Amino acid sequence: MNVRTAIRTAATRLCDAGITEYENDAWLLFSELTGMSRSDYLIGSNEELDLDTIAKYNAMIERRAQREPLQYITGKAYFMGFEFVVNNSVLIPRFDTEVLVEEVLKAATSTTKLLDMCTGSGCIGLSVAAIKHCDVDLADISPAALKVAEDNRKRLGLNNIKIIDSDMFSNIDETYDIIVSNPPYIPTGDIDSLEPEVRNSEPVSALDGSKDGLKFYRILANKGAKYLKCGGSIFLEIGYNQAEDVKSLLENNKFADVRVIKDLAGLDRVVCGRRM
Ligand code: GLN
Repeated sequence: MNVRTAIRTAATRLCDAGITEYENDAWLLFSELTGMSRSDYLIGSNEELDLDTIAKYNAMIERRAQREPLQYITGKAYFMGFEFVVNNSVLIPRFDTEVLVEEVLKAATSTTKLLDMCTGSGCIGLSVAAIKHCDVDLADISPAALKVAEDNRKRLGLNNIKIIDSDMFSNIDETYDIIVSNPPYIPTGDIDSLEPEVRNSEPVSALDGSKDGLKFYRILANKGAKYLKCGGSIFLEIGYNQAEDVKSLLENNKFADVRVIKDLAGLDRVVCGRRM
């Protein structure tokens, strides 16, 4: 079987499995497996593939046909222009979360001390550290996630990072200029209606924000001020319909100048406030 036929066959399989971006995914998985670039393809699409490559490609395509996210199959995701390793112990970094990072970048300097709470892959805190060269602590309850975060720290060559195994603030004993968090915020009852890629593959502990989705915002709002220096700020990613609730939580817990920021789709995406 030649390259063109292999990719066409794979695209058809993915289309039949209901994958919207079937051509793109078939190509990306092929390119990931073989290292072939678009320009290599222009001259090499008639090349014959060996049986081993075909078997490996089919195995990747089958995983995708079962609705496993592309990023878990390739093991990487792109965020803020950086490449992060991911596996199914961490949420795949979302493009929407870049809005959160952009807001933090406006407030951070090289002398900022920042805490990324519920860090997962580390994508938020590590991006800020890579851009601002400031001290960043990454905290998460999941040791498997912290392993991924540490892997990403090494790959980005960052040395000003502390990785903390902590159930929210339980093991945090410093104060920060900025706390940032994209905590689990999906109401438990909504999880079943998420895309199969999310529902079946991403860690439920990174999605489930309890019955009303607000559990972790309550903890962040109640305890956050204690871990912020005077005048320090908190930046939280939220679900599209959580702005009012999270804004009130912050305002009722010693935060001032509470603002809501929209994402590029015009949906409420970030709530931030300053510790009084
Ligand atoms: N902070 C991580 C991210 O934004 C993980 C978020 C989470 O686990 N809810 O990708």
